[in-house]
Amino acid sequence: MSQNEKVILPGSTIGVLGGGQLGRMVVEAGSSLGYRFVTLDPTENGPMGQVSKQVTAKYDDVEAALRLASESDVITYEFENVDASVAAILMEKSYVPQGSKLLYTTQHRLREKKAIEAAGVTVAPYRKITSYESLVDAALQLGLPAVFKTATGGYDGKGQFVIRKQEELELAYSTLAQLNTELVLEQFISFEKEISVIAARSSSGEIKVFPPAENIHVNNILHLSIVPARIDLALAKQAEELALKIAKGLDVVGLIAVEMFVTKDGQLYVNELAPRPHNSGHYTMEACYTSQFEQHVRAICNLPLGSTRLRQPVVMVNVLGQHMPKLYEYMQKSDLLAQQLEVEVKVHLYGKADAAYNRKMGHVNVLAHDVEAALKWIKQTAIWQEQFNNEK
Ligand code: AMP
Repeated sequence: MSQNEKVILPGSTIGVLGGGQLGRMVVEAGSSLGYRFVTLDPTENGPMGQVSKQVTAKYDDVEAALRLASESDVITYEFENVDASVAAILMEKSYVPQGSKLLYTTQHRLREKKAIEAAGVTVAPYRKITSYESLVDAALQLGLPAVFKTATGGYDGKGQFVIRKQEELELAYSTLAQLNTELVLEQFISFEKEISVIAARSSSGEIKVFPPAENIHVNNILHLSIVPARIDLALAKQAEELALKIAKGLDVVGLIAVEMFVTKDGQLYVNELAPRPHNSGHYTMEACYTSQFEQHVRAICNLPLGSTRLRQPVVMVNVLGQHMPKLYEYMQKSDLLAQQLEVEVKVHLYGKADAAYNRKMGHVNVLAHDVEAALKWIKQTAIWQEQFNNEK
């Protein structure tokens, strides 16, 4: 049997590199299909470790990786920065249907952009930056404002610099050059909306996409995902097709989250990919017939993919450390506001002990007849007041 026909049946053990909230939600979805789970994570009792077996060790610990391999029938990951040598060992000693090529590609912005372009999809015009002089040249060619980014290691806006004026070039260069990674300058896309589409592809090549989510960030952290996205239907279809193209072109197995910018004149530019479940796909848990987490398990185990149809409009809102006291207050009372607005509110918490400022502690899916009612609930309930005050 070739690898792409191999099916991992329920009862088997799925090993997961990383033990955060994404792993935890994969466990929740996969255990209801009868799979067992083990995580490799350095922190005991994290979100996934609370609900699965665990090998406690650093991600680059080769011996621990071998132990994970010996306990798992199939291995996946819940973050991108998997150590290359560990990935190689796991591929040799266990079964990693996602392979290591996609990880290699998405670990580096320049490689990722080339792969997206090779799949026939547009990214914001960019230049590789190798010196201060090349930054000055690139700024002239692309124009300002422009976004200066590290090629590796950046997330939630870290390792980024929006350069608005010539005079800022020197500071931008000295700030990012010391981070010791390759650098890239991107043209600033003055987008109207940010959206994302999650596609799933199984080892045998079946592909499905979830409906696009409209994403709103506050302080570079995802705040809301609104589904259906408030864009025109033809554009939504185009975004789905673009994600399918990327999933096929990059030989994805498992999930690929595709983040895009939408401009006023209806152009789509891909900003970033993530080869794993994504925060902007949490809405699928109640709002779609199959959640992104179940779909991921189906894809890597080579089961037929589930229906991605939207059952109901939904807004997902993230719960950060600073929102926890109000959320706990909320959870102890009956929700008259939800009754009044005719919305259904589903709370998900990740079991993290330390509610630090801006740390993702959970999320809430608000299901409604239309997204405006869900947004009204989020604005009127006390939990995110601080967030809205910050926005003003
Ligand atoms: P990233 O880390 O690439 O996801 O970027 C974080 C955020 O910065 C994005 O969600 C955008 O809001 C903004 N951003 C990144 N790149 C660009 C760009 N080329 N043009 C305009 N905004 C950008």
